[in-house]
Amino acid sequence: MKMFDPHIHMSSRTTDDYQAMQRAGIAAIVEPAFWMGQPRTHVGTFEDYFLSLLGWERFRAGQFGIRHYCTLGLNPKETNSADIADGVIELLDRYLDKEGVVAVGEIGFDDETEAEERYFLLQLELAIKHDLPVLIHTPHRDKKNGTIRSLALVRESGIDENLVLIDHNTEETLPLVLESGCWAGHSIYPNTKMSEPRMVALVQQYGSERIIINSAADWGISDPLKVPKTAQAFREAGISEEAIETIVWRNPVRFFAQSGKLDIEETESELPVDQRKQWEGNSVLRGQQPRVDELEN
Ligand SMILES: [Zn+2]
Repeated sequence: MKMFDPHIHMSSRTTDDYQAMQRAGIAAIVEPAFWMGQPRTHVGTFEDYFLSLLGWERFRAGQFGIRHYCTLGLNPKETNSADIADGVIELLDRYLDKEGVVAVGEIGFDDETEAEERYFLLQLELAIKHDLPVLIHTPHRDKKNGTIRSLALVRESGIDENLVLIDHNTEETLPLVLESGCWAGHSIYPNTKMSEPRMVALVQQYGSERIIINSAADWGISDPLKVPKTAQAFREAGISEEAIETIVWRNPVRFFAQSGKLDIEETESELPVDQRKQWEGNSVLRGQQPRVDELEN
């Protein structure tokens, strides 16, 4: 079964991860722009980061047979960096129309400050202006209120709720999201957020409609194979193959295809690997024989 990890920060991961992901059946990913662990001090740093998501990282994923899409946004924490926030918003206005950008994100609340709310709304407006879906991160602390406030801002902005993916849900927030017209993401983590058995229980209770799972793997303790591992847990719990495929493939494909920049038919086809290729003169190989897949037709 082909799988999609719709929230993974591959810039922080290794080529071993890409190889293991492809072996486990992951055929496509979305890499949301995010927090790098420390605040950036220049708008230009964001620009180079956006360019690397659109360029090198996309190439790198392709070298392992994985289709790479990204979301661009000013993450919640850095909306509090007054010196750079407006500059990043201007930058986004120029970058959101680029190829491979399938949503605005991840945006949302961290500490639920005034600045966070202001840039949250501004970026919802940008999504409307650029006709893009939105990926919304919900806070780790005070998650329930953060989710309620996020849903209220979505309504206030007037964006179509079908274009909104609310991420990092728990047992407490999922019913709130499903009551709205938004899609519900779940980050399966080794320790916190959400686990395989808890996710199995949620799917048994709520079904597969508008349900999405991801690994949210990044530079912290996380596991880039959580989508295939959770699919296996679904299977062992007797959840139907139809429902599993809906959650790990059809739902993320359908959601991000709303951007007009993810072609469903193309995404269904295998991405042939040609490791003889380079990106601006750089290769992922270190002296190995390049893998070259035979092209059909
Ligand atoms: Zn993230």
